[in-house]
Amino acid sequence: MDGTVSLIGSGPGDPELLTVKATRLLEEADVVLHDKLPGPEILERIPAEKREDVGKRAGGERTPQSAINERLVELAREGKRVARLKGGDPFVFGRGGEEAEYLAAHGVPFEVVPAVTSAIAAPAVAGIPVTHRDHASSVSFVTGHEDPTKAESAVDWAALAATGGTIVVLMGVGRLPDYTAALDEAGMDPSTPVALIERGTWADQRVATGTLETIVAVRDETGIEPPAVTVIGEVAATRDTVQELLTNERTEVNGDE
Ligand code: SAH
Repeated sequence: MDGTVSLIGSGPGDPELLTVKATRLLEEADVVLHDKLPGPEILERIPAEKREDVGKRAGGERTPQSAINERLVELAREGKRVARLKGGDPFVFGRGGEEAEYLAAHGVPFEVVPAVTSAIAAPAVAGIPVTHRDHASSVSFVTGHEDPTKAESAVDWAALAATGGTIVVLMGVGRLPDYTAALDEAGMDPSTPVALIERGTWADQRVATGTLETIVAVRDETGIEPPAVTVIGEVAATRDTVQELLTNERTEVNGDE
């Protein structure tokens, strides 16, 4: 008999932000396929014998997506209850959509378990609301993974700059200099507040703040690394207003004080 696959979001990393449903399905699963993004606190709660790390292969290179897809189908065909645990929400930049399509194409029944995405949660725990009645009526979630100068870039940074809404960049630590330059060129105010939230909600979460003009230097000074989200827009300044009484704080790396 065929097993099933659950495409489960882990949330941003704090185990208390796992949904009740995710918690139940992880307990019921025969095998949990995951990478590192759910974070150590969540992963260490899953018995080691159930875990299969499909993030990195020996030698450090990424497991190809095709190998993960095939493994999901193989396990389901063995009759296993498979939990495919993905950081944040499974359908936000996690290639969950591709996995769903592959499962459907191979006749494997599956369910999707939505979750708290880091795109909203990481800013939130840093005191940054992604929308605000006075400052941002829209928010865009974009990948920072691509080269903004390449002609076929899928992200139109100039158009984003023109919306005046909040921009939340995922996978955007490495190319921060490229897209901040693209926004600057498109006429965005260089004093626009920008925040970097590294490992949001993890025990070792860090937050660094600056402006469109200074944030690359801030990144370099603080050594902010992936996984981190970049928040660009007036809302990022809300942090300054609320920070003193915000008890989500874990580590501050460059206070404005
Ligand atoms: N599906 C995930 C995103 C996967 S793409 C989600 O909904 O959150 C991977 C990117 O997510 C990382 O490069 C980083 O930008 C972001 N990310 C994931 N977890 C994060 C966390 N705890 N703190 C900050 N950024 C995180």
